[in-house]
Amino acid sequence: MSGPRDRDGGTSQRSQTLIVQAPESIKRTRSKAVLTTATGTQTARVHVLAPSEIVTMGRGDDCTLRFDDASVSGSHARILMVGAEYVFADNRSTNGSYVNDTRIDGAVALKDGDRIRLGPHCMLRFNIVDDDEEAALKRMYEAALYDGLTRVYNRKHLEERLDVEVAFAIRHQTELSVILLDVDHFKNVNDTYGHLAGDAVLRTAAQVMSHGLRQEDLLARYGGEEFVVVARGTAVANAMLVADRLRNSIAATMIPFEEHLLHVTVSAGVASLRDCGPRIEKATPTSVPSLKTSLLGAADQRLYAAKQAGRNRIVGV
Ligand code: GH3
Ligand code: MG
Ligand code: MG
Repeated sequence: MSGPRDRDGGTSQRSQTLIVQAPESIKRTRSKAVLTTATGTQTARVHVLAPSEIVTMGRGDDCTLRFDDASVSGSHARILMVGAEYVFADNRSTNGSYVNDTRIDGAVALKDGDRIRLGPHCMLRFNIVDDDEEAALKRMYEAALYDGLTRVYNRKHLEERLDVEVAFAIRHQTELSVILLDVDHFKNVNDTYGHLAGDAVLRTAAQVMSHGLRQEDLLARYGGEEFVVVARGTAVANAMLVADRLRNSIAATMIPFEEHLLHVTVSAGVASLRDCGPRIEKATPTSVPSLKTSLLGAADQRLYAAKQAGRNRIVGV
């Protein structure tokens, strides 16, 4: 049996593409202005601007987009529609507002794709989209930031945030600690109850930890059964208290899986930027990558010490 004949007389298995005229009603109209934000342990947010809305951004409770961050002013900046344009205006904030890394003195019209930053940490993106793009944006944004299994931040986002946090801490000579937590004998869970049971344990451990943290702390999955907490403005002694609270909460949690109740413990290594030698006082922006490596390295060594000392414990000095 032969296939349909092509125009040049040959045969082809390909079916012809139907030419259709899209009705007016399904033609794309890119008319929605959206702001996407992600800060600390907050879930990424996609805020759709209403046409006449004035979006206020800041630390204050009455702001449309609230940032629980000490470097953001109470009323930091706003976005409003002027004619057909969306205009971003700084409210004489203490730490400044930036569009595509340029500090804004007054107001500026926003373009699709612009990156907005409030002070050193809080980032937003401005886009003009249609309904499908809005939904896709939400999905893409989440996939880029979050670990698919545990829904806490992924390692890539952790690395990016840690660069910003280390730079901020050396510029302002503030405290910064990290906690590296690892589930004890996790392989046993997989070996005894199966991989899905292991997954359930990781999901629950992440959930328990995120409930035990402040909003400005950042929780990320670092790898397999390892998690990192970045505790801004926190010295090592306080970070150890946080780590021990997380350790206790996990030790007190029973995790239902099929007909079983699973139970795990975690060990943690805690380190602060001050542990990374006298360099912190003399550090410059170029020291950020090596300080970040030293910070995570110090936490990793202490985690190893906690494992050696018998697990289900915290080591911080
Ligand atoms: P320790 O107390 O020394 O940390 O021992 P452990 O068994 O926790 O550590 P080990 O490194 O021997 O095993 C970690 C295991 O975690 C091995 C790996 O297969 C498993 N793992 C990594 N990622 C995942 C995951 O996403 N899901 C599940 N179920 N298991 C995972
Ligand atoms: Mg491990
Ligand atoms: Mg482990």
